[in-house]
Amino acid sequence: MRAALLFCLVSCLLAAPSPPKLIAIRCGRLIDGTSATPRSNAVIVIEGERIRDLGSSVPAGAEVIDLSRSTVLPGLVDNHTHILLNGDITAADYDEQLLKESIPYRAIRAAANVRTALLHGFTTMRDLETEGAMYADVDVKTAINRGIIPGPRMFVATRSLAPTGMYPLLGYSWELKVPEGVQVVDGADSIRRAVREEVKYGADWIKYYSDRKYFFKDGALHSWVNFTDEEAAALVGESHRLGRKVAAHAMGREGIDAALRAGVDSIEHGDGLDDELMDRMIRRGVYWCPTIYVGVYVAEGRAAAGAPIWPKMRDLEASAFAKAVKKGVRISFGTDAGGFSWTENQAKEFAYMVKYGMTPMQAIQSATSVAAALLGEQENLGSIEPGRFADIIAVDGDPLTDITELERVKFVMKGGEVMR
Ligand SMILES: [Zn+2]
Repeated sequence: MRAALLFCLVSCLLAAPSPPKLIAIRCGRLIDGTSATPRSNAVIVIEGERIRDLGSSVPAGAEVIDLSRSTVLPGLVDNHTHILLNGDITAADYDEQLLKESIPYRAIRAAANVRTALLHGFTTMRDLETEGAMYADVDVKTAINRGIIPGPRMFVATRSLAPTGMYPLLGYSWELKVPEGVQVVDGADSIRRAVREEVKYGADWIKYYSDRKYFFKDGALHSWVNFTDEEAAALVGESHRLGRKVAAHAMGREGIDAALRAGVDSIEHGDGLDDELMDRMIRRGVYWCPTIYVGVYVAEGRAAAGAPIWPKMRDLEASAFAKAVKKGVRISFGTDAGGFSWTENQAKEFAYMVKYGMTPMQAIQSATSVAAALLGEQENLGSIEPGRFADIIAVDGDPLTDITELERVKFVMKGGEVMR
């Protein structure tokens, strides 16, 4: 026993550290995530998990990956997902998952979902709340980081915050204790305690629901605000004090207005954005995650279930998006995947962004360098340049002429490791 230990100790000490593996990727067309135009015949040199060089020659001893007939891009970032949810077109779809699926079962499904996302080219995701699955997002993230399951780099929000009675599950007999889709909080102190608890258990971001009860009046989308200004300010203040940024679900004018007053870092959905709200977002550097595809996906189903407002919100968001692109609002790619089934490729969002007014290059940058900036990770993610993580994808065709190419990702590398 002791001899074996000694042998190991000696041999481990004597073994020369093996140099990190060198990989060279030959690119046909390279879209680097920040430049306005692609470059041809570039070679990306990767050492270990990061990019060492971007040039035109293959260094001696490097293993070559030939993508010279493909378009190479940075790994994609989706800044609004729900890995613990599997589609909720109707309230019944949502309730069923919370009532009939245990959290372990939901976590197993989440493990499958993160693998799907990674193979679709999403090497990073900001997951914006577990919808009643407590802190299971932190566990999935840990399992990915330890190499137990394949998945993107995760930035997780754990449990979203909303006051009593303002988020599902709702409508059950008061005699029943049913699961909550959020962490229920009332009053500034209860909110501060909840933020501290979430940070304690691993929240990278704090998410809350700024509004509900959407309605149209005078051509604008309005809503009821969930928290008082004092409560929202306590939520954002405590989060920032603990070094966490805040994402606010806000769809109607009043909900977005209240979230901006509170000082949030990103507006989620934002269907009811108007000129004045957009100008404030630009001045304050607040990001917008429009999540177009989920609105399109649920619109008809929710209308059929008796809520005709959803197709109207879908159309309103199309015009808000075009205006925001012209004005220069910082728009980050975010899909709400999980709000629609994970069998739908979340990259379908790109086609809507282009249809609604972005150039294909703007849409790509919204899911690479802009999305990385929202996360404060621009030194690590979102572009192909020396020093960044080697998170790299490739498609066969040219996404600048056909953006749906991004729905057919053929090659995925994360941190220097080929995943697909
Ligand atoms: Zn969402």
